[in-house]
Amino acid sequence: MGRPFSSFFPSLWVTFFFFFFTSFMCLFVSADDPNRLTPINRDLYHSSVDLMKEIEALVHRHSDKLTIETMKSKNKGYAAEIPVVTYRHGRNNIDDTSKFRILLSFGQHGRELITTEVALRILLILSEEHLLPHMDRASLNNTLAKLVIKVVPMENLNGRRLVEGGDLCERRNGRGVDLNRNWSVDWGKKEKDYDPYEENPGFAPFSEPETQIMRKLALRFDPHIWVNVHSGMEALFMPYDHKNITPDGEISQQMKLLLEELNILHCHSRCMIGSGGGSVGYLAHGTATDFMFDKARVPMAFTFEIYGDEAATSKDCFRMFNPTDPNTFDRVLGDWSAAFFTIFKMGPEYLDETEFRPKSNIDKLVSIDEYLEGYLIERSSRYGKKREVFDLGMQEMRTYFRLFLLSSVLLMFMFCSRISKNKFTRPLVSAISI
Ligand SMILES: [Zn+2]
Repeated sequence: MGRPFSSFFPSLWVTFFFFFFTSFMCLFVSADDPNRLTPINRDLYHSSVDLMKEIEALVHRHSDKLTIETMKSKNKGYAAEIPVVTYRHGRNNIDDTSKFRILLSFGQHGRELITTEVALRILLILSEEHLLPHMDRASLNNTLAKLVIKVVPMENLNGRRLVEGGDLCERRNGRGVDLNRNWSVDWGKKEKDYDPYEENPGFAPFSEPETQIMRKLALRFDPHIWVNVHSGMEALFMPYDHKNITPDGEISQQMKLLLEELNILHCHSRCMIGSGGGSVGYLAHGTATDFMFDKARVPMAFTFEIYGDEAATSKDCFRMFNPTDPNTFDRVLGDWSAAFFTIFKMGPEYLDETEFRPKSNIDKLVSIDEYLEGYLIERSSRYGKKREVFDLGMQEMRTYFRLFLLSSVLLMFMFCSRISKNKFTRPLVSAISI
């Protein structure tokens, strides 16, 4: 009874498996459907209103350590306000000039919600409502006693409101200006790949109330360390953003050393390190970090990129810039809040260094070629995973079926993924982070 059926076996089964695996593969490819946009995960992320309420309540509960002020500015009918939280160890000591001063800004780009959650976590740790694992509190208190830390938890409140209203890809302020292109160093210069939607620098340097407030804050506070916190990739950048070199001098070496240390301790050695302009793949003009270093003379000025999902399609901005699952969300908050406490401890030590300490990997800065290579390897390994799934399914088939089907399936898969890539792959430059 089996004989007559087995004579049809090759052609029937070939057809069956061919269609089965082709449909299976196309399902995989369509999992990257660019039209499927990930919404804000409200279970993980605070709304801007709730985040600020929580921070205000926290400051109220810890008025011995924390204070908050709201800085306001207005220009041509457009108003902005920026809350600034100050951590000072000891209520009576308000003389900031004798202390080591650190200024941190989060949420300069509206769509990078994860950065504002990191700001809240840092404030929770500073107020001892959240404990940092493996951190000796006595030693931490000793470190913090020498510091004044100012945290801007949400620099771009108006832009953030647009994101929360559904414009998940908005990075600019409430009237369409990129706050990280509105500063005066090399302002307004446009590269060949200039994207007017993403990088509108405004009608003049400091045209925007938000930038005016931040400049005033920085010049008044005169920090030793500035960190502008972003998301979109994993990187630790130092000046310059507008040219692909790092500054000369010993301080530049110290900045590199500190970033190397942070990369190992908190970024699982995955972060790109170097000048923003030399590493990210595009030059950025009129950025905050270049101003802080060049004009405000902040000795150590950085831009951190704390998270990015390269697998997200260009329109799926919430996923591209923010962790979407609880595990990754917690991991990013844990890693990066710890990174800032390492800066609080080591920053003053690095800045006090007068003697140059050579380190073999100090000049090992990642070039754009290396970045592209890593990007391509990661892409191929993603597709490789899918191939493994198919291989497993084929192990039980006869050898000639396996060979025939595998080649058909791979051909179809390459065909599908090529169409998918052509349609949806975003160019590197469009994923503008800093
Ligand atoms: Zn950004």
